[in-house]
This record gives sequence, C-alpha cells and structure tokens, in this order.
Amino acid sequence: MDDLIIVGAGPIGLAAGIEAKRAGLQFQILEAGALCQSLVEYPIGMRFFSPADELAIGGYPFPTPHDEKPTREMALNYYRKVASAENLPVRTYQRVVRLEPQAEGYTLHAECALHQTPATYRARCVLLCTGVWGRFRRLQVAGAELPHVLTRYDEPIRFWRRRVLIVGAGNSAGEAAIRLADADAQVWLAVDQPRLEQCKFRPFILRELLLRVEEKRITPLTQAQVLRIAPDCVDLRCAEGVESLPADFVLTLIGLSPDQSLLAPLGVPFSEDGKPLHDPDTYETPVRGIFVAGALSQDGFIYVARERVGRAIEAIAHQTREESRHKRRG
Ligand SMILES: Cc1cc2nc3c(=O)[nH]c(=O)nc-3n(C[C@H](O)[C@H](O)[C@H](O)COP(=O)(O)OP(=O)(O)OC[C@H]3O[C@@H](n4cnc5c(N)ncnc54)[C@H](O)[C@@H]3O)c2cc1C
Repeated sequence: MDDLIIVGAGPIGLAAGIEAKRAGLQFQILEAGALCQSLVEYPIGMRFFSPADELAIGGYPFPTPHDEKPTREMALNYYRKVASAENLPVRTYQRVVRLEPQAEGYTLHAECALHQTPATYRARCVLLCTGVWGRFRRLQVAGAELPHVLTRYDEPIRFWRRRVLIVGAGNSAGEAAIRLADADAQVWLAVDQPRLEQCKFRPFILRELLLRVEEKRITPLTQAQVLRIAPDCVDLRCAEGVESLPADFVLTLIGLSPDQSLLAPLGVPFSEDGKPLHDPDTYETPVRGIFVAGALSQDGFIYVARERVGRAIEAIAHQTREESRHKRRG
C-alpha cells in the first residue's frame, strides 16, 4: 500500500509529486489523460497571462525566449521535462472513478482510457489535484446542446470568415474574441455588464478588445441575455434591444464547475462555488486522509497553489509518520 496517491497530473499534481518525493513518501500519480491533460486541451497557441517564473514548479527554471510569457506549447514542454527529470511515478490514462474507504486508507478504482481495463490502487491518503477543467457550464436555454454551440475551441482558423457569437465576460471569452477576430472571424461578444470596461477582463485583454471594437472587428453586445439558440440564429435581449443574430457558431465561455463525483459519496461538504471544504492549513477535507489542492481548492493561480501544496504534503507526511509510530507501538 502506498502512503499517498495523487489524482491528476496537472501543474499542481506534479508540484505535489516533487514535494512528496522530497518528503520521502511512497506515492504514485494517476492521471485520466496524457501528462497535463488540462493544458493539452487549452486552445492551441494560447499564451498564459502569467510570466514563466510564476508557472515554474519544483525550483526548476522556466526560460522563455526574450522572457516572453509562455504559450501552451512552451508550458507543456516545460512540465514534461520536469516530470522526466524528477522521474515522477505518473500513470497516464488512468481515470479514478471511485474512492472506497477501507479500515486503513482507501482503495482507488480506476479505468484505463487506452484499454478500457479496470485497475485498483491502495493508499493511506489521497490528494485530489483534479482541477476544474473540462466541466464547462452551459447556458440554460433551448438549443444550448446543438452541435454548433461549443464550450471550448482549439484552432482559431476553424472560424475563418464565419459568424461567431461569443458569450462570456471573463478573460477566456475576451481572449477568444481577440484570437477569433484576428483569424478573420466575424465576432459578436455578448457580456452581461453595461460596458466592456465593467467586465472582469485583465487590462491587456480589455485594451486589445477595445482596439478591435474600434476597428469594427468585434461587435460588443452589452447587458446581454441569450433567450434561445436555433441552428441558424440566436435570439438575445441586450442593451440595444431584442436581436436575432445569424450565427454559424456560438461559443459559450461562462465558467467551469468542479467535478464532485469522487468526493460527494464520501460525505465531503462543498462551498457555494462547488469546491470542497478543507482545512486552510493542511488542505485536508473533513474526511480523514482525503486532501485537495490546486484549482480544485481555492488556489486558482499556479504560483499560489504550487507553494500551498507543500502544506498538504507536510500534513500527509506527518499523518503517515504518526500512523506508523502508532502501529509499531500497537
Ligand atoms: C485558458 C486558461 C489560461 C490560464 N492561464 C493561467 C495563467 O496565466 N496563470 C495561472 O496561474 N493560471 C492560469 N490558468 C489556470 C491554471 O491553468 C490552473 O490554475 C492550473 O492548471 C491548475 O492546476 P491543477 O494541477 O490544479 O489542475 P489542472 O491543470 O486542471 O489538472 C488537473 C488534472 O487532473 C486530471 N484529472 C481530472 N479528473 C481526474 C480523475 N478522475 N482521475 C485522474 N485524473 C483526473 C485532468 O485530466 C488534469 O490533467 C489558466 C486556465 C485556463 C483555462
């Protein structure tokens, strides 16, 4: 039986693995997809808004040409090299589907995505670093499930000279509007606020958006509410009135919600935003031996989460030492 199983090999699962190795724990990392599957699914060519040093883990430098902010591809290359250099015990394509409590520790039931074979693992403690990626919120309107309604995109060129309605007032929606406009798509950006300046865009995203609005390459629709989506048009109410927009694609980027399916059956409580409650010092949930870290906890930025995951590993190492001392005595 391992001391620890880390579920998820995103940036924070890997950072946790490095800390676990340094703490002398016996552990494995199970990942549902490829290494850093979450980043694999980010838009191709996407640039992070953080500088490289804020994405670096384990003390490994992350150099980029001319100190530019890293692209998705640079980050994938970096995390791969770190995982290889540390020889981290990552098992890819192992999706954990159930956590079963035992007298001592947990059995993790997994499914191999490559061969559709089941597998089980045993560990005293489990650290979930499963992030929030992949659980896209959908609009609650008729037509939201139509095939041209997307919750993510990969290549901007797919939208060349097509009419795209982007719904969302956060950085992902803002960035998508910029990149699709630059790929010569005809872009409408529907936001819920009265002005783009009141949305949650980072300053550089807002600047780039306003530039393209001025050039008439992006049309903003403010105080917008989508009413209905049909195969060839979208009905919406906005500050400009009620519109029926002819759209080839609708891209809804309205946020992500965490997967609760592993934790809910164990009785872990969740906060209003759907994330699991946990001790802020140890990152242990109210269920003993079950820890969370990274984007699944409240730590959305990599530079914050990479530091704090050390607290969870420290607590796990402490629990492991206490239990073996207890066993020796008993
Ligand atoms: C477009 C975009 C841009 C971003 N830019 C920045 C930025 O510039 N700076 C910054 O600090 N943050 C940024 N973020 C946020 C950042 O990417 C996340 O905070 C970070 O990826 C969190 O890492 P994580 O390891 O906690 O989770 P994730 O990176 O989401 O990794 C979770 C992993 O767990 C795996 N997994 C999930 N369920 C299971 C299961 N049941 N069994 C096994 N494996 C499972 C997934 O496949 C995935 O690989 C950005 C996010 C997005 C979407």
